[in-house]
Amino acid sequence: MQQQEDQEGEAQQAVSASTSSSICSLQPLEAAASTAAAVKSVAAGAEAEERRQEAVRTFCVERRARGGTYYRTFTAASYPAVWQLFRHTAPKDLHWYEVIREGRPAHLYFDLEFVPRLNPQVDGEALVDVLLQHVAAQLRRHFDLILDPRFVYELDSSTPNKFSRHLTLRLPGHAFSNNHAMGKFVAQVLAASDSKLLVVRKEQEPGGGGGGPQLGSMVDMAVYSKNRHWRMSRCCKGGKEAVLHPTGRYATAPGAGVSDATVFLDTLVCNVEPHARLLQMPDPLPTAGPNNRGGVGMLGAAALQSGIGGLGSCGLQVTWKQGAIDTALLPDQVAELRRLAEEAVSFIEKVATQRAGAPARARTLAFCGGGAKVAYSMIGPGSHYCENIGRPHTSNHVFFVADFLGGTYTQKCHDPDCAHFRSAWMPLTAELCRLATGAAALPPPSPSASGRSAGTRG
Ligand SMILES: [Zn+2]
Repeated sequence: MQQQEDQEGEAQQAVSASTSSSICSLQPLEAAASTAAAVKSVAAGAEAEERRQEAVRTFCVERRARGGTYYRTFTAASYPAVWQLFRHTAPKDLHWYEVIREGRPAHLYFDLEFVPRLNPQVDGEALVDVLLQHVAAQLRRHFDLILDPRFVYELDSSTPNKFSRHLTLRLPGHAFSNNHAMGKFVAQVLAASDSKLLVVRKEQEPGGGGGGPQLGSMVDMAVYSKNRHWRMSRCCKGGKEAVLHPTGRYATAPGAGVSDATVFLDTLVCNVEPHARLLQMPDPLPTAGPNNRGGVGMLGAAALQSGIGGLGSCGLQVTWKQGAIDTALLPDQVAELRRLAEEAVSFIEKVATQRAGAPARARTLAFCGGGAKVAYSMIGPGSHYCENIGRPHTSNHVFFVADFLGGTYTQKCHDPDCAHFRSAWMPLTAELCRLATGAAALPPPSPSASGRSAGTRG
């Protein structure tokens, strides 16, 4: 019941967020749709109606105010009409975005970015190629689909300060059922990449603590949350000059003979043909390995529940709960584990923040027993983002478990619906794996901790 109310609250929030910002022509569109639905009943008629509705789409357009600032408006138009406008308008004046509406199908898209200054070792184009190899492998694994290079549209709006590309993957006759499913799929791609995609250094947040820059992926996961505005080809952001244009690779490679109009239409992620097969991801995600018995996770959750009272007045204090301490560990081994666990706080906060696209801080550390596993409860706006549902929970928080023997970490969740969920195990940084390399000093992990060996697989 609570769950349902939460969801409704969220939906309402999303609606008011998308309508309050500006003039909005969504209303007449919805009204027309429901009136039409009432009068059509025969199948053929309904089908024609569906096509008619789909012919008019909602876009977000940034317009320049007198003061020079930009504000967002919404407009409804057909793709051909928008193309005619685009053909006759200079790209520097085009600030159009598709509105990816909640629960609607969309083609697989990626927002890729990193800061070259922080990543002199990263070859962006080569990394896009590696990403697409992993995407192809997961498309085959999950859906038995083959990714042909001709299906891939790559748009670039990089500047010297930022590598920035959009990918649209146009799988013939297929689309994702919604961008929540898409986010799950992309999370699987990253998790299954064996850290080959986690090679990008991100900007340190102010006050982010020590530990040096951490490695992440160049894939922005925030774009799979609901009601996103997705910049269209030929467009730049209001007040900026970097226009999204085809790179001349993949679908637009020399000799491919793809027209400007085709690039425009095929890079629209909401431009899904009415009878496309819609791709879903299983819910909840299958977990890796046979060791998901929940023993360690349950211990972790229990330790967290008991530890949450220790919050300091600033709300960001990290405490060390040792209630579940493993009797197999010697006191100095516990001290070493504790030191590593505290050192990993900035890493955990970084990955939590990156996944959520909003700040998340560690609140409590809890030793879980079972070898060298430590749970991190989280706080902050980004602490609700859960990979299981591909979006933030309204009130429940996620938590992370790091395995300092296995050199991996995973996301779990306090939401009752996610009780049996944990994400794939992801690698910790090399600096945080000292315990693993010096594992000879520790007793062998108890059988309940043997999940670590299976954990490195997605
Ligand atoms: Zn969850």
